[in-house]
Amino acid sequence: MQDETAEQAPGDEAPPGSRQAGEVTCPVCGGSGRSGDGECQDCGGTGTVVRIVGDA
Ligand SMILES: [Zn+2]
Repeated sequence: MQDETAEQAPGDEAPPGSRQAGEVTCPVCGGSGRSGDGECQDCGGTGTVVRIVGDA
């Protein structure tokens, strides 16, 4: 069974591996993966999020 959303954090704009997508430091937690007492909700605790970087 495939679960294509398994690797995608809430802050991701595109699935990992997508064209024009790149992994960047999470702007919410600054890459720490932590937010307050728990893990960052934007990156899911990974410290990175997938953003659309575009391609000229
Ligand atoms: Zn984060």
